[in-house]
Amino acid sequence: MPELPEMEAWRRQLDDPVSAFPIAKAGPAHIATLKTFDPPPAALEGRKFRGAERRAKRLLFATDDGELVLLVHLMTAGRLKYIPAGGKSPAKPAFALEFVGGSKLVLTENAKKKRAGVWLLTPEAADAELEHLGPEADLLDAKQLGEILHSESRRLHALLRDQRLIAGIGRAWANEILHTAKLSPYALSGDLDKEETERLAAAIHSELERGLALREAGASDEKTYRVHRMLGEPCHVCGTPIAQIDFEEHTIFYCPVCQTGGRTLKDRRMSRLLR
Ligand SMILES: [Zn+2]
Repeated sequence: MPELPEMEAWRRQLDDPVSAFPIAKAGPAHIATLKTFDPPPAALEGRKFRGAERRAKRLLFATDDGELVLLVHLMTAGRLKYIPAGGKSPAKPAFALEFVGGSKLVLTENAKKKRAGVWLLTPEAADAELEHLGPEADLLDAKQLGEILHSESRRLHALLRDQRLIAGIGRAWANEILHTAKLSPYALSGDLDKEETERLAAAIHSELERGLALREAGASDEKTYRVHRMLGEPCHVCGTPIAQIDFEEHTIFYCPVCQTGGRTLKDRRMSRLLR
């Protein structure tokens, strides 16, 4: 799933083109993708976007008259593309907008189950839709992070991904951040001392910045991630093979030397079965 660095890179790319021309035609939309019916997509026709904004992992396109907001959440497999006039557009878009002059904004989702979503909302309804989100991860300072860490004692990997507490981080960047911070994904947030909290805050900033710079330059996952999905590859700090552990519905990647003091984490589902 694209996370803060990926979405921010896309936002920067889309900001100018989406605000260049008014919308000529809104739709078609896949029934599972369009999450709202009132106002209808056609309400966008003749209006112009102010540009592209981002909140957490969502992109927001507000009309310059201040009346409507198109909110897009790509989930795991959604992709948003700007297609210049005359360019080839995909045959079955999940959602499409055509601008005056022929350029298009197209959402595709190459997955059986459609999970990406598009909402057309009033600015008030958009605010309500986003209300549950915590502060943007890249804007947090160590003091705010400390308050969040101590508000609930949770395993760090799960806490970093909880959008109500911190917005914008998912599985991949939680792996990268915890490795840079030299903290165990299983460490309890309430146990972090001041120095560890500062290290984690610094790692959130440096890793999200590194990710954004790479994604803006068009870097692939392989060139961007150093820990995520790198099972068996040497840790870029100490050379130890990266390990993995299944946790809840997904896999955590970590370095057993840099992060867990030489210990290999136990699969909790496994240990539950054995108990
Ligand atoms: Zn290491």
